[in-house]
Amino acid sequence: MAIIDGARLDVWKALLDKALADYNLQILREGLLWAMQPTVTENQLAPLKEEGLLGHVLNMDEQLVAELISDPNVFLQAADNLKALSAGKTPLKALKFNFIDDKIHSSRDKLPVLLEELQLQTRKKLHPLLEYLPPGAIMLIAADHGFRTNLYHNKDSKEEPLYLHGSNTFFEALAPWTLVKKR
Ligand SMILES: [Zn+2]
Repeated sequence: MAIIDGARLDVWKALLDKALADYNLQILREGLLWAMQPTVTENQLAPLKEEGLLGHVLNMDEQLVAELISDPNVFLQAADNLKALSAGKTPLKALKFNFIDDKIHSSRDKLPVLLEELQLQTRKKLHPLLEYLPPGAIMLIAADHGFRTNLYHNKDSKEEPLYLHGSNTFFEALAPWTLVKKR
């Protein structure tokens, strides 16, 4: 299971559509969820944790991505939920990718420039997972919330963010998910 923090629908499509095809991932099902209010990560994950559905969340920073690349089998076995699921047990483990959320909290770039940067990050951080997933593996990829552009952004202010999330606009609340299978 992979969570992509902040991946709103247009960004999701731009980053994932081609990548899934390139790495031979077949879409079994896909859909959209309406994120809990306020649309921040904690509010999406906390109910799953309280229900005992979600256990360990691994933050896929550069170091963990490097571990995945250096020994994919060991890494993916440790992240695999198959044993827990077939024993009818939860909580499940999830890999969480933060590069979109990190970027929207720091970027002052216009959307096309932001997207370019996110493409690079996707290639660096997410593509190795798609690449090393063994044939036959099934993975749920889900966003937790999206983001919106701050229309009243004051360019002269050094602190004011250009992108925001937390409220209930489509851009923030629609959270895409897809169930994929490696061919
Ligand atoms: Zn955030």
